[in-house]
Amino acid sequence: MALDEEPTSTATYWPSLAASQAAGTFWRCRCGEMNPGDYDTCHFCQHPQPDLQPSVRAGTVFTPTEDDMEGEYAGVLVASMGEDGDAIALTDAKNRALEALDGYFREVCGQPNLLDDATRPLSDAYFFLDSGYGVFTRRADGGWHLAPAAEDAEGAVPVTWFRHPSGPVPVPYARQGDPQLF
Ligand SMILES: [Zn+2]
Repeated sequence: MALDEEPTSTATYWPSLAASQAAGTFWRCRCGEMNPGDYDTCHFCQHPQPDLQPSVRAGTVFTPTEDDMEGEYAGVLVASMGEDGDAIALTDAKNRALEALDGYFREVCGQPNLLDDATRPLSDAYFFLDSGYGVFTRRADGGWHLAPAAEDAEGAVPVTWFRHPSGPVPVPYARQGDPQLF
């Protein structure tokens, strides 16, 4: 349904949009206007509705795709987390996460390697990787929030977190050569 096809649509557009907004089924066109969920083209610019995906609603649990992440490296989806050099890889296999994150930091960030230090062995990065599961929920702005979760939590996906190595290898690991205390 579009403005030029239906002379009375202006009368139906607003009530339809209001109902769609209440139901969470509206969609936003690339021109910026919102449209009722049953409009297959934009009321204002007649651009077709993008792929008929479930509407984005804040709090919705979802499984990320390439569109949600920054890219795929070594077959693993990767995204940065904030400005501190932290990142995630969507796998619970640390060796795969390390390879993917290393590719990401070299290709996107221009670093010599994942550790941003060509003199350090890449195996040091294992100490900054934390594998587990997380649940992705949609934010109102279309972005997402990731929370650590149990493996059997609804919607949980395997994730490896990378905490930017701003210092030496953490003490519990660096002291591996110390006498055994227990
Ligand atoms: Zn439009």
